[in-house]
Parts: sequence; C-alpha cells; structure tokens
Amino acid sequence: MARGHRWREDAANSCMNKLKLFIDGRFVASAAAGIAVTDPATQEVLCEVPFASASEVDRAVQGAKQAFEHWRETPAPERARLMFAYQELLKKHQDDIARGLCRETGKTLEDARGEVWRGIEVVEYACSAVSLAMGETVENVAHGIDTYSLIQPIGVCAGITPFNFPAMVPLWMFPLAVACGNTFVLKPSEQDPMTPNRLMELLSQAGAPDGLVQVVHGGKEQVDALLEHPDVRAVSFVGSAPVAKRIYRKAADNLKRVQALAGAKNHLVVMPDANKEQAISSLVGAACGAAGQRCMAISAAVLVGEAADWLPDLKAAMAAVRPGAWDDDGAGYGAQITAAARQRILNFIEQGKAEGATCVLDGSGCTVPGYPGGNWIGPTLFADVTPDMSIYAEEIFGPVLVTSSVQTLDDAIALVNANPFGNGVSIFTASGGAARKFQHEVQVGQVGINIPIPVPLPFFSFTGWKNSFFGDLHAYGKQAVRFYTETKTVTARWFDDAGSARPNMTIKLR
Ligand code: NAD
Repeated sequence: MARGHRWREDAANSCMNKLKLFIDGRFVASAAAGIAVTDPATQEVLCEVPFASASEVDRAVQGAKQAFEHWRETPAPERARLMFAYQELLKKHQDDIARGLCRETGKTLEDARGEVWRGIEVVEYACSAVSLAMGETVENVAHGIDTYSLIQPIGVCAGITPFNFPAMVPLWMFPLAVACGNTFVLKPSEQDPMTPNRLMELLSQAGAPDGLVQVVHGGKEQVDALLEHPDVRAVSFVGSAPVAKRIYRKAADNLKRVQALAGAKNHLVVMPDANKEQAISSLVGAACGAAGQRCMAISAAVLVGEAADWLPDLKAAMAAVRPGAWDDDGAGYGAQITAAARQRILNFIEQGKAEGATCVLDGSGCTVPGYPGGNWIGPTLFADVTPDMSIYAEEIFGPVLVTSSVQTLDDAIALVNANPFGNGVSIFTASGGAARKFQHEVQVGQVGINIPIPVPLPFFSFTGWKNSFFGDLHAYGKQAVRFYTETKTVTARWFDDAGSARPNMTIKLR
C-alpha cells in the first residue's frame, strides 16, 4: 500500500497541520476555525483548512486593489512574460502537483496529470495576452477624425471554484484575468484546498508581484463577503446549479459582472450505425472517469433503434472497470470526494430502483481491498429510465450511467433538448448527415461527434448553455478576455489649422 507521497514539508504551504491563506505574496496563518481535509480513499486527515475571517477577506481584497494600481500600468508584454515563466514552472512540477492533487481528490494519477495539463493549456493561452488585448481602429470616421478602442482591465476579480478540478478550474480563471491586467482573489473549494495553494507557490516563484493573486479559504460566508465587497468588480463561479443560480443573482444585486458555470446532465446518443466497440468504450470512460465527478461526464446514454441491443455489452464493459487508490495502476477511477457525496449517490441508486428503472449493474456494495474506509462506488448502470425519474432529472455526480431507448434520431434530439441542462452532448455515428443534423438542432453548448467529452481547448471558450451556465461571456478563450476587460472607445481629431470656429449644433461628426 504505497500511499507515501507528501507535499514538501518545508514549503510555506505546509499541509501537516493548518493550511494557510495566501495574501500579499506570503502564506499567512489564520486564527479562524475550519474543517478537516481528508484523503477520500483512507479518511486520513491531510490538513485543516481555515474559514477566513471577514477581516482577512477584506485584507485580501484591499491588497489586490492596491496591487492593481501598479499591475494595470505594467506593460502587456511584461504581464505575458510572467505567464511564460509560470507555464514553464507548472510544466516542470506537473507530476508533483498531480500527486498532491491525488491525495486530496482521490483521483488516479493519470487523471490528475490530465487535469493539470488542461490547466497549463489555459496558461499557455494567457501568454498571448498582448494580442488578446488589442483594440480596433477605424481611420477617418469623419473628415480628419479617427476612432479606436482600448481594452483595459477592470480591477479586482474574484473566483470561486468547485472540488472536482482544484487545479484546472482555478487555472481557467486567474491566469487570463491577470494577463489582462487585473488582480484576483480566489476562494477555492474547501474540500481540496491544498492544490490551489501549491499553484500560488509556483506563481510566486514565477515572479508575480505581491497581491496579484490572493487566496482566501472558506465556504459560503467567505463567498458572500466577496460578492458583497464593493471593491470586487467581477465574479467567476464554477459549481453546482443551485449555488450558481444564487451566485448569479447575488452578484447582480451587488452590481457585479458575473459568469456562473453550473452542473449538467450530459447525453451520449448512440446511433445503430456507430462503431460498437468505440461507442461502448467511450461511454464507459466518460461515465466512470474521475468517479463520474466531471461536469462534462456522460451520465445519460440514448440508444437509438438497434443500438438498444448493445446493453449487455455495455454492462460487461462497465463491470470490467474497478475503482481504486490513486497509485493503483489498475484502477479506472478513484473514490468519491467525501462520505456524504458517496451517500448521496447511494440514495440516488435506491431511488432509481424504487422509481421503476432497471438496475442492470449495481455498484452500491463496492469495496476496495486494503481501503475499508474509502468512499467507493462501483460502476452502476440503469436501463428503462424515463425523464420523470430523479436519476435522469438530477445530476448524480457519480459513476452512474442511465440509459433510455428511442426509435429515431429525432426522438433522441427531442429528449436531449427537453432536458434543462445544456453543458455537453455527444453523438456516435458513421453518418455525416446524422451528425450534421444533430449539431445543428441540439440545444446544448458543447457538442461532440464521435468524441465523448467535447471540452474545447482554450482558444475557444467553455460554452455551456441553459441551466449549465448563467451569464453571457463564458470561461476562457476570447470570451473570457472580454469578461475580464472593459472597452474604451476613443474618437479623436488633431487640428492642423485653426479649424472651424462655428459650433457644431448636431451630433453628426464633421
Ligand atoms: P458547489 O456548488 O457545492 O461548490 C462550489 C463552490 O461554491 C465552492 O467553492 C463552495 O465553497 C462554494 N459554495 C457552496 N455553497 C455555497 C453557497 N450556498 N453560497 C456561496 N458559495 C457556496 O460545487 P462542488 O460540489 O464543489 O462541485 C461540483 C459541481 O460543480 C457539480 O455540479 C459540477 O457539475 C459543477 N461543475 C461545473 C463545471 C462547468 O464548467 N459547468 C465545471 C466543474 C464543476
């Protein structure tokens, strides 16, 4: 049982006891009470995370506000150079970050490495800050008059992040925000807060000025303090749908710009002409990977026509996957984040059975030898699921796949479109015509064609729709650059003579 990895004990971000806040370039101890952060496979206490006091949250925002005064004047190429240095350090320490992340999330090492890499990709994108922040110019909008736009930072931005991607989701946010000239206050998930502190160690080493990115730990109270703080201009949120709705409304009440990414129920439509093996292996990976704790996990399969006959093969493929500890090479995925999260999933499984769905494969009794206290759920498959059942209507966030059978592609599209969520969807087919019809008609923001988890790379944006997103400008990509900036439009004339002394009494430029 090789569970020996520990964060460096000499680091400022020591996890041996109480985790620190990161304020004004230093890790600072908080006297506030907190909660234990545990290893999901063993229940070993890894550290205690403090819930920052109101004055600590205020201090973090004030420090970020002060840092903004200098950072906004820092030339764009210099800001980009910080991102170059940061991405180099992240790449150098990718494995170390991934190993630490495994301990607090329960993810397998391979999955954790993938997460860190997808965060690094956003930092790479932030390296192009100079060209991202270019405005537009039109010469001669009237005689001798030019109009041009300047893209300027907005000030202190805040980020609130979920447990399931403690490296990637913070990296969706602060690198682009600071590359655009802002400063940032991050409130990471209290369930796995050590990885974000590690990201700060490396940001400091990369040469970030004090106060550029601050980290305050905590939960709802600390989030509310940020939402209500008059010096916070914009809020990026990623988390569950009920909390996202609350954040969206509260941010608006406090007159802040907001983007709130929420939960999901992602479908994979299997057409009978699809390659059976590819469709089934994609379904298994997308449903069970990361223990089903991905906002882009596939949690509903729609089997069209004869594809319904593939259910026994799907069951066999899912049954061949088993969870295990992060350093178990044979494990397909790890433990659920907490015992409470595990219990919530068990409740859904029981509810599904009670509501009349057929439980084809039941992972409720799953155990992992050597890890009796782990939050394990085995792969679980339901058939004959209808939209009124809670296992279809709600996000379960576990390795549970529900399946429904329909007759035609039109039926499948109608089923997907009737679902209130709209984060991701996928179709597996050999028909270009079916794929094109699907991509055009489906009411979901991210579509995969023979790709089970269509998460766009950062030169695009993460474009969830409907109840999976509240706001208008999405995370990362060009839309995030717009989110983290203001546009100033300048209309200018330079006189080369005395000009006309006659006042212009109209609004027409001349
Ligand atoms: P969560 O909503 O419980 O918590 C998210 C963050 O909000 C945490 O930092 C938490 O401390 C804070 N929070 C919790 N309750 C709050 C409240 N009442 N008021 C203010 N803040 C509050 O989500 P989670 O369980 O950490 O993460 C899983 C959820 O996130 C899933 O629903 C998943 O689909 C979603 N998610 C969505 C995306 C996306 O891109 N759409 C990406 C990752 C995760």
